[in-house]
Amino acid sequence: MEMTRRRFLQASAATGLLVAGTTGIPALKALAEGENTSASVEGKWLSTLCQGCTTWCAMQAYVVEGRVIKVRGNPNSKASHGKVCPRAHLAIQQMYDPDRVKVPMKRTNPKKGRNEDPKFVPITWEEAIDTITDKMMELRKNNEPEKYVLMRGRYSGMADILYDATTKIFGSPNNISHSAICAEAEKFGPYYTEAYWDYRDYDLAETEYVLLWGADPVASNRQVPHAINIWGKVLDQATVVAIDPRLSASAAKAQEWMPVIPGEDGALAVAIAHVILSEGLWNKEFVGDFKDGVNLFKKGQTVSEELFEEKLTFGIVKWWNLELKDRTPEWAAERAGVPAEQIIRVARGFAKAAPRAISWLSPGASMQVRGAYTAMASHALNALVGSVENIGGTLRGSSVPTGKIPSYADYQDDLSKKGTKNKKIDQRGTKEFPALKDGKSGGGVVTNRVADGMLDKDPYEIKMALAYWCNFPFSCSGAQRWEKALEQLPFLVHITTNPSEMAQYADIVLPAAFHAFEKWAFNKSKANKIAFASIQQRVVEPIWDVRIDETEITWMIAESLAKKGFPNLLDYFKNEIKDPESGKAPTTPMEFNMALLKQLTQNVWDPSKEKKGDTLNGWQDFVDKGVWNSVEPDYFKNWDKFGTETKKFEFYSETLKKALNGHAEKTKTNVDDVMQATKYQARGELAFVPHYEEPFRWGEESEYPFIFFEHRSRLNREARSANTLWYQEFKDVDPGDEAWDDVAKINPVDGAKLGIKTGDKIRITSPTGSITCSAKLWEGVRPGTVGKCYGQGHWAYGKIAAQDYNKRTPRGGNNNEILPSDFERLSGSTARHGGVTRIKIEKA
Ligand code: SF4
Repeated sequence: MEMTRRRFLQASAATGLLVAGTTGIPALKALAEGENTSASVEGKWLSTLCQGCTTWCAMQAYVVEGRVIKVRGNPNSKASHGKVCPRAHLAIQQMYDPDRVKVPMKRTNPKKGRNEDPKFVPITWEEAIDTITDKMMELRKNNEPEKYVLMRGRYSGMADILYDATTKIFGSPNNISHSAICAEAEKFGPYYTEAYWDYRDYDLAETEYVLLWGADPVASNRQVPHAINIWGKVLDQATVVAIDPRLSASAAKAQEWMPVIPGEDGALAVAIAHVILSEGLWNKEFVGDFKDGVNLFKKGQTVSEELFEEKLTFGIVKWWNLELKDRTPEWAAERAGVPAEQIIRVARGFAKAAPRAISWLSPGASMQVRGAYTAMASHALNALVGSVENIGGTLRGSSVPTGKIPSYADYQDDLSKKGTKNKKIDQRGTKEFPALKDGKSGGGVVTNRVADGMLDKDPYEIKMALAYWCNFPFSCSGAQRWEKALEQLPFLVHITTNPSEMAQYADIVLPAAFHAFEKWAFNKSKANKIAFASIQQRVVEPIWDVRIDETEITWMIAESLAKKGFPNLLDYFKNEIKDPESGKAPTTPMEFNMALLKQLTQNVWDPSKEKKGDTLNGWQDFVDKGVWNSVEPDYFKNWDKFGTETKKFEFYSETLKKALNGHAEKTKTNVDDVMQATKYQARGELAFVPHYEEPFRWGEESEYPFIFFEHRSRLNREARSANTLWYQEFKDVDPGDEAWDDVAKINPVDGAKLGIKTGDKIRITSPTGSITCSAKLWEGVRPGTVGKCYGQGHWAYGKIAAQDYNKRTPRGGNNNEILPSDFERLSGSTARHGGVTRIKIEKA
């Protein structure tokens, strides 16, 4: 960042000028004009929460005369070392974005489509809410409340009041989370080996070996400030191996880069396991050993199960016999395009570091059509070296004692009880979409299937949607389907900060409070062995007429529904939500917000409540300090009680066997048929062990010669920062990328063959779509593959994000318009990685 830091500061000053110029604040104006204002610009650091990604870091905003002028990490945060990552700074430009939605609006052009001007006109909040509740009451009058859907994007710890309670009291089963478009497949690995459906934490301070499966911890993933702060130490004491088709920021600093062919990670994982077993390098304390101490894991040879005495694991010999015995490094080298010697070296190094060794999963290796078993295989490596819940290994993290929303069952009338019994619109739990979260058929969400459900009216028609903090026509693969689905949706309400792609299809657009600085909420997460809850505080009064999405708007809807004869929601809010300090029920939207926030976080800030972590001295102390930190988790906590069927770490997953059999029984078929329906190749017992699956790709090589992969940016606040100057100006902090441009990174060898050079405008075509962007010849992608960052290609997010906002011309192209809609069906996850599609490239 050294070169860009100076430019960052220059841009900061420019933004300061912009803010001062538009608001006329004397002190800031003086600062912008270069006066010595050190006395007059004195402000205050206030605690809040960043939420530029799911790390949800505690952050502080420096407020001068009612304006945020800079941010820093919250010094009280142990998880983030009191730091933030570069993305956090962009939040200021996001809030002061002049293109934000400033007042409620309604559509006056009934025709919907990308080329239709919605002809939005400003309306009052009263008119907006009245229109929304008219539509809701119409559904109830017609006995069809299930035709309402709530679409949730990013959220706070208060989400369930809108997402769950409001949807279910109204009478719809359709509360749809975005989760499956950005994760889920990786959680499949730890769940079906050690019964843990969540992200892991990692003991980086103590580790000696880190295998990164498509993860780029110093740039993205879920603990960036921690990673940035500790990475120097990690590189000093550990070997870091980046398995990634791209020379990512982490790969550029790693000791080893394995530029795997996209989607072939599973081949490397099982080959590493093969080496560890055949060379006798597994951790005997965790896994156990052969009874007579002689290693019988010999290439190509099956082993008798009775000869091995397992300790904390289950099925090591079955795994060897069913899968590993033939998975040699030479076999993997051919599949993955990585030399066998490197695979052997890495396997030996990883095992030698045991148990201080981390196999770090990420969406990159698992969010592919056949990625569930890659997630299992890469996580199983942790068990082979005994690093599960061990010093220097992979951890679960402590818990945060925040509360849940009160039960709403008593507020559901007969119609809502009947309505919520309907199937969900995302088709979860059907034969093709098992979505086996927590071992249950249909236990997880299949977010990206909603568009298909809406288009096909399967299982029924959706007539109304309320969407917040999401932008599915931009962020979901097969984005064109979403545009079509929203075109035909009779009524869409979009709660948003920016006039996004989704808002273009809305009937009512509601301006949302900007999360980091205008909301009151909380969130919780973990990193650096610390779990934490952090406050999100309204540090400045909003400039525009915004409301808080999950609470204020929900209360207004409840009040309006009550006036129209459906008081259940308002009754629930008034009876069950109380300010814990005053005992009073809320009477206004903001009182409701604050009462709920205090109620849900009371265990954290109330000194009389017992907990394992900081003791705060009441609500105000929580607001001031901004964060509650847990104690560090115990090592080895679940070693004698993994929540699996066998209570062991399962290499042969009885837990998955039960889940798949349960799903097969429910859908009246057998497991082999489920494997077929979900595009997996495994049949028989292989379905229950981590194993290699050939990557599933769209497009024939003869027509589409290149494998396409996408990656994440250091500056991308979940595609919401593209309308800031800093994002565009500093886009080149992502290796291989360019400022103010959207580049497809092509290896120079391929560029020469195609006659394409850096800067050429190119058209990328997949079997399902086509986009244009710039070419960048770069050695950091392997020949035969093309890499492109997610985040550019907005056509409706604002004047900076688009090339020409008025003409709806995007800056570059949205990857989701060439990525086909496909799924890792066992988890319900969208398949966006692993080279899910082939492409061709032409000069545009
Ligand atoms: S963008 Fe994410 S990692 Fe960076 S400071 Fe914000 S929440 Fe933390």
